[in-house]
Amino acid sequence: MTPDASILVLNCGSSSVKFAVYEVGAIEASDPSAAQPVQAALRGQISGLPASARLDWHPSEAVPVREALSGVSDHASALAWLFDRLDHSPRYRAVGAVGHRVVHGGERFAEPVVVDEAILAALEAQVPLAPLHQPHNLAGIRAGCQALGSRAGDVKQVACFDTAFHTTQPALHTTFALPLSMRERGVRRYGFHGLSYQSIAERLRAIAGERAEGRVIVAHLGNGASVCGLRARRSHRTSMGMTALDGLVMGSRPGSLDIGVALFALSTLAMSVEQLSHLLYNESGLLGLSGISNDVRTLLGSIDPRAALALEIFCERAAQEIAATAVALGGCDMLVFTAGIGENSPAIREAIVRRLAFMGAALDASANSAGGPLLSTPQSAIEVRAIPTDEESVIARSTLAAVRAAS
Ligand code: ADP
Repeated sequence: MTPDASILVLNCGSSSVKFAVYEVGAIEASDPSAAQPVQAALRGQISGLPASARLDWHPSEAVPVREALSGVSDHASALAWLFDRLDHSPRYRAVGAVGHRVVHGGERFAEPVVVDEAILAALEAQVPLAPLHQPHNLAGIRAGCQALGSRAGDVKQVACFDTAFHTTQPALHTTFALPLSMRERGVRRYGFHGLSYQSIAERLRAIAGERAEGRVIVAHLGNGASVCGLRARRSHRTSMGMTALDGLVMGSRPGSLDIGVALFALSTLAMSVEQLSHLLYNESGLLGLSGISNDVRTLLGSIDPRAALALEIFCERAAQEIAATAVALGGCDMLVFTAGIGENSPAIREAIVRRLAFMGAALDASANSAGGPLLSTPQSAIEVRAIPTDEESVIARSTLAAVRAAS
């Protein structure tokens, strides 16, 4: 791939396709361990799938565009539309490879991989482990193959896994207290949001100096939420398990739950497996608690006491997971907030750090309101920071490396 080619990054979710375009030359000229990630030439998303698709896009030096899309009703048509639009833009025509976020790599995939039919089949087999995300990720890969496969130069599709960053966890933190017969079948803790943790871990030394090499806890608080304990910037313990249901309370997932609740739902309430799955992935968490919304902004703006209780439970559980991760690390030198809620909500950060005062954590109120980047007082035993994550630039860089290694 020549420096004027570009890499398209796709993150296909249930109702949206997020995308970013990177110039190969810009990736080559950048340092992955710099404080700032490499900038995308273009970012955007197609949201509102399937019923009311609309496009938001942000070229780096032009006015953002928002438009309704007619004739776009699923991932395949959304991607066909996107490739067509890129094809008609002189600037982005030379897409040389497509990098995809794929949630579950299972035990087999610990590195980004160029996708072929056999690999696609292996990824298909992981769908039961990530039913909310994986089918959409794979739909993106298939649509990419369909739209670009016939091109001269053979545009490669690369899968980058959210589980891969966590392969450094010791068995102590990946093993469930279950009989060997279950553990032999790949039933273990994997962990997710790895592309986000990688983005923070790579840049942390440049941002925070020597302390970055110590005991660091990153709280990725978005619609999905987890925490990850880093030692020497490698994953040591994370709150999500075999699936993305475990750990913190999330937008519409409950996080850690007494497994007896699932047995009760299946036996006494006679729920089907599909109904239970829908309950756990789509109807629980902040949405189920509040009965109002899965969106933290909406809940912060509500005067309904159910919204306040939902947010209190969210913060209490986040603080508990951070404390549990500190046990695994033998202490905590730094706490980093990232993703939509972590980067943008002073109120949620305050409510979590207040609960960690017993560990010596103290926020500077005005730095927290201003968004940091350093949020803690000079006396705080734990340095607290807010750092924007950038999963797309991690995928772009990994995609370029995987394509070069394969050719
Ligand atoms: P995902 O990528 O998992 O869809 P995001 O990382 O975009 O999620 O985070 C979405 C969450 O971030 C939503 O709950 C949203 O309300 C919250 N959020 C975004 N901006 C703010 C803000 N300014 N204040 C509070 N919450 C915010």
